[in-house]
Amino acid sequence: SVRTRFAPSPTGYLHVGGARTALFNYLFARKHGGTFVLRVEDTDEARNTQPARDAIFSGMQWLGLDWDEGEGKGGDYGPYNQSERTAIYDKWFEVLREKGRVYEEEGAWRFRFERKPITMHDLVCGEVTIDYRDESNTPDMVVRRSDGSYVFHFVNVVDDLEMKITHVIRGEDHLMNTPKHLQLFEALGAEAPQYGHIPLILNADGSKMSKRDVGAAVGDYPRQGYIAPGVINFIALLGWSSKSDEEIFTLEELVARFSLEAVNRAPARFDAEKCTWLNQQHLLKLSPEAFAEEAKSFVADAGLPVDDRYPAVAAVVREKVRLLSEVPAAIGFLLADAFDLDAEAVEKVRGNAAAKDLLAALANDFAAIPEWTIDAAKHQIGETAKAAGAKPGQLMFPVRVALSGKSGGPDLGDILGLLGREKCVERLKAFSA
Ligand code: GLU
Repeated sequence: SVRTRFAPSPTGYLHVGGARTALFNYLFARKHGGTFVLRVEDTDEARNTQPARDAIFSGMQWLGLDWDEGEGKGGDYGPYNQSERTAIYDKWFEVLREKGRVYEEEGAWRFRFERKPITMHDLVCGEVTIDYRDESNTPDMVVRRSDGSYVFHFVNVVDDLEMKITHVIRGEDHLMNTPKHLQLFEALGAEAPQYGHIPLILNADGSKMSKRDVGAAVGDYPRQGYIAPGVINFIALLGWSSKSDEEIFTLEELVARFSLEAVNRAPARFDAEKCTWLNQQHLLKLSPEAFAEEAKSFVADAGLPVDDRYPAVAAVVREKVRLLSEVPAAIGFLLADAFDLDAEAVEKVRGNAAAKDLLAALANDFAAIPEWTIDAAKHQIGETAKAAGAKPGQLMFPVRVALSGKSGGPDLGDILGLLGREKCVERLKAFSA
């Protein structure tokens, strides 16, 4: 059965490229009813950090990429940290030594390549051949350093062998390592997994995306107001497409549709706008209650009261925001009396004497409505306008600005209902004074 793995080195935060590798391995395993392993390649003691490990685990958990074996899960092929697998590496190194495939030079041990062409059949890139008869281009490689530690190529291969990995999906930067890995598998007398190398990710300007680029850190996404389904969808489209016009997918839908054949060979482009748009599409899929819950911490952090009215208030902007971080500004005027004003809109209404008179009249008329309902309030706007010889439409914009300080936002009826009569009258009066 299919076994894939994500094998990050805990030397920095979880970046988008790593998350994509994890996602594709996850999708491939789930699609084939297989097993998804998380193996931590922590052999570089000088560069590994605990915060980096934590960022990998928490980033994957936030994205919903749950693994079956590895940290916190156990499994039959552990330990899952390379730093704890030295005895296993020693054992396989002995195999190479007994077969005469390694030789010592000043303390370091080199692996003797077989001097022949090696062709790999990459699931994404197709056939790639490296001719090992050219010794100057392909010198024998060190597998064990003089301090006894093993190099990446060796431990990576031993672990894939021991963990019975069937498919290795990883970044294109590893493509040229793979012939070396095939040589090692052959020398160890084991069948190699199948490999699929996924394309580079480029910045919008065409440069190669690095860990320092904007948008690279998965850990930054939650506090910027992205939700995991939006980010998952975005990451999936970095190099994969459904081969149809559809592009909005949940994780479950991705599992059903994913295939390595549909991974592009051409580099993927990182487009932050696309990510934000996809986030909006996934916000729209949330129930009003779920949306309110997701946005809650942003609202509280902005110092707004998360009171009884909050869920209903949040619900009216669900279709207006692209990011959860936009929610406080969008609903501030509904929860508090101090809120941001759009200077241009305010000026437009304040500078119009007729509009101000209408607002003053409406304040009195609102106060006199026998029973305050949204319909009654809307009806009153029409009546007040009519009485002054104006059209209802002429009063709508001033009312919106007086109540919210903005030219756009939720439906005016929702605003009237959520603010209630008292606040509406108060704000109309204050604005027209
Ligand atoms: N630790 C390697 C990396 O992070 C893993 C390579 C692989 O997936 O085989 O690049």
